Amino acid sequence: MFYGRRAKDEEMETILEDTEVYSCIGDSCIGWMRKDFVADDLLCPMCGNEMTQEIRVLPKI
Ligand SMILES: [Zn+2]
Repeated sequence: MFYGRRAKDEEMETILEDTEVYSCIGDSCIGWMRKDFVADDLLCPMCGNEMTQEIRVLPKI
């Protein structure tokens, strides 16, 4: 019973929020970065393509 209560508390601590991210324009690439961590040149860290800004719902950090 204590364990179940604790798991529920941890679940509630995950706060989701709309987050500005840059995602890769490449169809076959899943690369994306949070706006706060994006590279200065706005290029995909995985394939080097350009990235486009979008909003995703992500856990708050
Ligand atoms: Zn990419």
